[in-house]
Amino acid sequence: MVQMMAGAAALVMAASFPAAAQVAPAGGPGIPANSVSPRPVGDTSAIAKEAQGWLADLIKINTSNPPGNEQIAALYLVGVLAKEGIKAEILDMKPGRSAVVAGLRRSAVAEPSRALLLVAHLDTVPVEKSRWSVDPFGAVVKDGYLYGRGAIDDKGMLAANLAVFISLKRSMARLNRDVIFLATDDEEAGGDASIRMLIAKHWDKFAAGYAINEGGNVFVKSGKVQYIGVQASEKVAANIAVIARGTSGHASQPTKDNPVVHLAAAVAKIGNYSAPVHFTSIVRRYFEGLAPLEDDELGKWIRSMDTADRGEHAQRVVSDASPLWNAMLRDTIAPTILNAGIANNVIPAEARANLNVRLLPGDPIDAVVNELNKLVNDPQVRLEVQPNAGLAAPPSSLESDFYGVITKVVSQEFGGAPALPFQSTWLTDSAQLRLHNVQAYGLVPFPLTQDDLKRMHGDDERIPLGAFDKGVDVLAKIVTEFAVAH
Ligand SMILES: [Zn+2]
Repeated sequence: MVQMMAGAAALVMAASFPAAAQVAPAGGPGIPANSVSPRPVGDTSAIAKEAQGWLADLIKINTSNPPGNEQIAALYLVGVLAKEGIKAEILDMKPGRSAVVAGLRRSAVAEPSRALLLVAHLDTVPVEKSRWSVDPFGAVVKDGYLYGRGAIDDKGMLAANLAVFISLKRSMARLNRDVIFLATDDEEAGGDASIRMLIAKHWDKFAAGYAINEGGNVFVKSGKVQYIGVQASEKVAANIAVIARGTSGHASQPTKDNPVVHLAAAVAKIGNYSAPVHFTSIVRRYFEGLAPLEDDELGKWIRSMDTADRGEHAQRVVSDASPLWNAMLRDTIAPTILNAGIANNVIPAEARANLNVRLLPGDPIDAVVNELNKLVNDPQVRLEVQPNAGLAAPPSSLESDFYGVITKVVSQEFGGAPALPFQSTWLTDSAQLRLHNVQAYGLVPFPLTQDDLKRMHGDDERIPLGAFDKGVDVLAKIVTEFAVAH
């Protein structure tokens, strides 16, 4: 299916930008209007303050997925863009669920392969409201933080993209490529309204050669930026069902083939299993860049991971030091759901578990299943790969002009901290874009501590307002450097 879409994508690469997404000619980029003098994007402090307001408004629109209800947020964005004279198009995906696209064109002739896409998603994960200290949809500001579901993931980036897009329009910057604003829906669930379907139905409306999206982060440690992880690849998700079968019967006379017991034993073995380390080229480069940033002891182990004599021990030390590093180095398997039993006094005929698997790109799921089958080694237990497993996308190039611009700008802007190529353990819309030959890079441009990052998908998600303003500025500098004629 994706092969077919890739073919179709190649055809529409030459198609022109849709009229609906074009900016009205008066005041459009590259078309100077006499009454307004062009200004450089330059100082972003004023627009960052406006963007804080857009972010607060977006947080107040509950787009928890499921069900998403992104259409309300989509209409809000269309309204904000309309005030700037930018005609955005709503792309309806399902009842109540929509994406938004708008474009600033370089010239009358579209050149999708050069175009830059600013991507963010409208939906958020749900909340456990009772565990929050503030209303998750109240956009409460406290101690310099803006609280709310989506404050970082991904309404923060959405508001920053919007700010940069609008500042390009206001400044009448002379673009050297089309810049396209895209707000996607159903990212968190990746279902029938997600970017996969958006590309299948509407690729011609946002076809681009380059994209910036969430996926990477500016990591703050001990009060300063330690490094910037620019996501160029991501792991691939799949699910495996573990199914134990036995004879159902009266719980007063237990039998050896009780499927609950067999399932529990299988899950315990799987839970203790660690897949072998496999370095992708991006992960190798990441750790090379990371080693000098860590203390001497840990740096030494990081450097030893790929050596013959101490490699295995070093891999264990590094994996134990961080769940993120552990997951960057290998396929991971996390049991997530257990299901068995119908009554306290009935031994059931079947017991099931779900394993959420995250594969390094290129690693086949069949190899994991074979390994787990050997490990479980129980004729009563069967493993079944579930439908809708993810597809591995090729990594984005670390040699592209855009990657060069991103890494140069962020390093300058964050006090010389290095930019490292990053392979996220989590999924983003970028995988689907990469499958369509887009050089997509992940960078949430806000400098964030581990404590703030942990709150994404958790309780009391929040963004430091200072970090938000800085992120808007950094994103503006990246986009200006790449897409504005100098
Ligand atoms: Zn996200």
